[in-house]
Amino acid sequence: MAAPLALTDAEDPSFAELLALRPHLSLHAMDGLVMEGVPLARIAREVGTPAWVYSAGALRRRARALKSALADAGLTASVHFAMKCNDNLAVLKVLAAEGLGADVVSGGELRIARAAGIPGPAIVFSGVGKTEAEIRLALAEDIFQINAESAEEIAMISAIASAMGRTARVALRVNPDVDARTHAKITTGKSENKFGVHFDEAPAIYARMAALPGIAPVGIATHIGSQITAGMAAYRAAYARLAEMVQALRAAGLPVERVDCGGGLGIPYRDEPAPSPEALAGAIKATLGPLGLPVMLEPGRWIAGPAGVLLASVVLQKRGASHRFVVVDAAMNDLVRPAMYEAWHGIVPLSAARAAAPLSPAEVVGPVCETGDTFARGRLLPDLSPGDVVAFLDAGAYGAVMSSTYNARPLAPEVLVDGTRHAVVRARQTHEELLHGQRVPEWLAT
Ligand SMILES: *Cc1c(COP(=O)(O)O)cnc(C)c1O
Repeated sequence: MAAPLALTDAEDPSFAELLALRPHLSLHAMDGLVMEGVPLARIAREVGTPAWVYSAGALRRRARALKSALADAGLTASVHFAMKCNDNLAVLKVLAAEGLGADVVSGGELRIARAAGIPGPAIVFSGVGKTEAEIRLALAEDIFQINAESAEEIAMISAIASAMGRTARVALRVNPDVDARTHAKITTGKSENKFGVHFDEAPAIYARMAALPGIAPVGIATHIGSQITAGMAAYRAAYARLAEMVQALRAAGLPVERVDCGGGLGIPYRDEPAPSPEALAGAIKATLGPLGLPVMLEPGRWIAGPAGVLLASVVLQKRGASHRFVVVDAAMNDLVRPAMYEAWHGIVPLSAARAAAPLSPAEVVGPVCETGDTFARGRLLPDLSPGDVVAFLDAGAYGAVMSSTYNARPLAPEVLVDGTRHAVVRARQTHEELLHGQRVPEWLAT
């Protein structure tokens, strides 16, 4: 069932409702908001704010839930974490230990995946604009599969692989022309989007690819968009088209070893309907199951999103002409999703006393000089004082990775919580590092 489009503020979930759906977080009278076994206030004191905090337990639980949903549906499946949503080494280590591979979209991500100990043969490389250097790196690392997005790219891969004396395992990314009904900036499976080759052209391109030197065609791939919460209809439609295509390719005598089902499974940030891994596994089974092929999944957000929070301190509360502004020390340069996608993030005070106090609407804003630097409008929050810390929920995906140093704000540190242990897994950037690499030309130096 679809959520109503325009929810009023009164319908925002309460703190208790938000926490009930996030089992790695709990609110305690003395310790306040606790992640697994670590009070978040302790982390805020130790590392300062803003700071990203990830739950290893939540990452593990979610990775396992996905894998067991696929296995329970009787599918032979491998899961490749879409590391563009969170490329922290420690996060990748946790997921690699759960048997997840990586889906990378750049040479930089490929190097980080290798540094996290993810073997080349567990890595998939997606993206419309892989450069020659990136393709060479992928071949040198003997990765599992390159997802090619155009005939032009296939020609490039063939030439590079031949020159290197290698054979590239290539899947063809097909654009199934379905509408995933998600935000326009993150829908990828419509024919007007830049991704993949058009459904009608795919069989001919696949056949030509099979005849090229240096290429072993291994199958087809799709990825229809991100934050998909509108049910399984779009997934089913896309996978049904892929199944049809595999049958046509087989009938033409072409080899197809596997199907890459992409990522995109959405999470409930506010109170969106939450599609389950079981529903996704069911959609795959119903459409692609009869082919009897191994499948691959490239989830990002579903695994990492709910596992992370962004901690921010209240700088001050400002009474405007018509609004109460809560100014925090995190900004759009840290968490850009509200400014970029009109995203809603739960905001929970760390103090149990604050969380239990009377609520009134507030505009939650950062210090950056843009009106877009607004995290929430008309959000029901208690009266907050300078130094109070709040947690922005579901910040584990497309959070730290999308941050910038806009307004010369150093990148915030990242912390991993694992049971009762915690560690800084990326230090806060220093002001010296902000200047690193900058040079004043000689003629201006005088
Ligand atoms: C972004 C992306 C994903 C992951 O999307 P999520 O919504 O984070 O699951 C998977 N595959 C490809 C090709 C992508 O570009």
